[in-house]
Amino acid sequence: MAAAYTPMIQQYLRVKAEYQDAFLFFRLGDFYEMFFDDALKASQELEITLTSREGGTEERIPMCGVPYHSAPVYIEQLIEKGYKVAICEQTEDPKQAKGVVKREVVQLITPGTMMEGKGLQEKENNYIASISVFEDETFGFATNDLSTGETKVTMLSSGFDEVLNELSMSGAKEVVISSDFDGEWQRRMKERSVMAISFEDDCGVRDSFEGLLADLNQDKLRTTSCRLINYLYRTQKRSLDHLQKVATYQINQYMKIDYFSKKNLELTETIRSKGKKGSLLWLLDETKTAMGGRLLKQWIDRPLIDEQEIKRRHSLVETLIHSFFEREEIREKLKEVYDLERLAGRVAFGNVNARDLVQLKKSLQQIPVLKEMVSNLPNEEAVRLAERLDACEEVTDTLESAIMENPPLSLKDGNIIQDGYHEELDKYRDASRNGKTWIAQLEKQEREKTGIKSLKIGFNRVFGYYIEVTRANLHLLKEGQYERKQTLTNAERFITPELKEKESLILEAQEKCVELEYELFTNVREHVKEFIPRLQKLAKTVSELDVLQCFSAVSEQRHYIKPSFSNERRVYIKDGRHPVVEKVLNAQEYVPNDCYMDADREVLLITGPNMSGKSTYMRQIALTAILAQIGCYVPASEAVLPIFDQVFTRIGAADDLISGQSTFMVEMLEARNAIVNATQNSLILFDEIGRGTSTYDGMALAQAIIEYIHNRIGAKTLFSTHYHELTVLEEELQKVKNIHVSAVEQNGRVVFLHKIKEGAADKSYGIHVAQLAELPNELIVRANEILTGLESNDPAPVKKKIPAAEKMAEPAAQLSFFEDSEDVKKPSISSKEKKIIDKVKALDILDMTPMQALNTLYELHRKL
Ligand code: ADP
Repeated sequence: MAAAYTPMIQQYLRVKAEYQDAFLFFRLGDFYEMFFDDALKASQELEITLTSREGGTEERIPMCGVPYHSAPVYIEQLIEKGYKVAICEQTEDPKQAKGVVKREVVQLITPGTMMEGKGLQEKENNYIASISVFEDETFGFATNDLSTGETKVTMLSSGFDEVLNELSMSGAKEVVISSDFDGEWQRRMKERSVMAISFEDDCGVRDSFEGLLADLNQDKLRTTSCRLINYLYRTQKRSLDHLQKVATYQINQYMKIDYFSKKNLELTETIRSKGKKGSLLWLLDETKTAMGGRLLKQWIDRPLIDEQEIKRRHSLVETLIHSFFEREEIREKLKEVYDLERLAGRVAFGNVNARDLVQLKKSLQQIPVLKEMVSNLPNEEAVRLAERLDACEEVTDTLESAIMENPPLSLKDGNIIQDGYHEELDKYRDASRNGKTWIAQLEKQEREKTGIKSLKIGFNRVFGYYIEVTRANLHLLKEGQYERKQTLTNAERFITPELKEKESLILEAQEKCVELEYELFTNVREHVKEFIPRLQKLAKTVSELDVLQCFSAVSEQRHYIKPSFSNERRVYIKDGRHPVVEKVLNAQEYVPNDCYMDADREVLLITGPNMSGKSTYMRQIALTAILAQIGCYVPASEAVLPIFDQVFTRIGAADDLISGQSTFMVEMLEARNAIVNATQNSLILFDEIGRGTSTYDGMALAQAIIEYIHNRIGAKTLFSTHYHELTVLEEELQKVKNIHVSAVEQNGRVVFLHKIKEGAADKSYGIHVAQLAELPNELIVRANEILTGLESNDPAPVKKKIPAAEKMAEPAAQLSFFEDSEDVKKPSISSKEKKIIDKVKALDILDMTPMQALNTLYELHRKL
């Protein structure tokens, strides 16, 4: 079959066979063409015209293409959709080719290795991850950001959920795994942010990157890193000199916050819009550099637990607050620093242009001044940080002397290299400049000679230099004075042998200039390449400084204070605020609240009406702890905190519907996660646990959970509930305390004061609100009566007045499910209910897992 195709199509098919999972952009002259299925799919995805071409067989071959110069836009569109694109270039000059021009794939672009384009946010890392599974059921997990060259690796030993957690947190768009990786796990990864799954079975170490692994002392870490690095080399097919030494980390070096809790607390994006706006990251981001922006996100993702390091950050923030003017100057300087990390990446990748190098130069020029400013701050830690600001003067010197101030984007048009940098280049430039002066003089001279004032010497690509005389003046020329070259409507163009001679000198000099400039530029780039590790270190220090100044600026603007830490696991927050709600509401309207917890107050049970501020209060405690542990100040007038090892939340809203689990199931899974993993050093926030099921089992579960935490775990816990009955737990469980959010009535309306107070909320509150909403008086009286009955555990008032009216038929029908007494007249059952009963009867309960049982129950419940 294949033999029938033309040699070029055969070549295409051979290459395509190796890149089955990618779109193959096949270079044909000025176009990248796609054929067969690729063409059909790409024409749809990119909305470009589908055509066809002869290919040697009877049927024409589907084809579509994009011009090479606009290819990046199309490539980006495909990558954004999670596809991969293999770029296949002509690797020999078509004029010299015998037969079909040689072609080769020069790069495979994938979602995780994309280095340019608008999809790549400057303040976000674009991670690619790799996972290795080992026989002892541990996992190796590595991430790399190709644009910055940073690779990190860790071992995870608590099962695949933990891997998913790390993966989601990194936001990696692509995961590299072995080809025999578990299918169910692959499916679960796709449910998270992963766009592409790629395979790499080669985990061998190459000599070329042995150095990158120097800090890894475990085979498993090396295997995991090598899988990733081999994949990068295989897809990028070029020098990756900017890859930094692989760094290891342990997740227990940081405060653990699982994926759902992160989402719930809206640390880096909000639940509803999935955007940054409204998140803690949005509130804090006063960074001035792109690198700082990325580091800030990393810090928020991983709050510290090392008290010394936290205190170091606090002390620097403090100094920067006290040195207001210096900080403002530092901020101004930082604005001038471009993305050193990504610039270094582009240098290594070989796609840096002259403007990038000018940015690099300008950035480096700021460093000595910054260094001076930071080292003068009255803080030893600042002096130490300043020492790490290495200005890489050699690079600055080279760039200052070599590269022009405003070079063009293209490297092929000259005007890149400074005068005086290279003798030969200067000579060519002189020749070309002299030639031009000579031409200017010639123009003057010929005008005088002929008396034609409008005579001019011009240049175009086709004819080169020419003398132009308007038609009206032609009679002033002597016969044969110049050689006629071109006739226009209003003018004639001429040349002279002398002019042509100069022209070839000028053009030759110009051509030499451009060639030489390109060569010199490449040398400069190679020189800068040697400094990549130093530039990367500098980038790290600059970003650290940037985040610290950002913390100090936000803390000052928003009146945050420095927290201190308690060894007795005591929480004392005075006038605490929710940082984001406060910003959105603006400070005057926000009602500050205190929080006190210690060994005798471990579980706070929060009651209060809906919308009174319970969940805001709970979140504010968690956010305060997180802010403190990333090294920032906190929104309060005083704060003493323990160092929390983990934060768990179960807060409404974030229903995980994608995975098809019921809300209640998600609620229970998250509760389980907290209960199994929390320690006495953890913080747990449970908002309305048990609401997703019927009153009685919900209440029973809530109580059992509180008891379990109280008796077995001892974690600091905030538990909000609308089950008023739970407030009696305060009497039974020594460390449980009731608090509530107060509300008052003003002019007949309920006003939420958002103020947290000791004790339980007023239980008849709901009825009170109903009264204000002007429900019929008779109904309100009756509700109060029932309430009193419920409270005194006396069924009489509750039952007394059940009316026999038709309206009550339904509850009666429900009761009859359970009361199989002959006295009760069985009401008729609707066909819908009958179906459900039949379903229940048909269930083989002994053959079901608890999970299946719960899901079935949920399904049935939904049908009612
Ligand atoms: P609940 O959890 O009790 O239903 P929320 O915590 O969701 O209530 O709060 C409801 C609204 O009340 C929030 O959207 C917020 O705007 C406002 N709010 C909450 N706490 C405060 C406060 N301390 N000061 C001012 N407004 C607040």
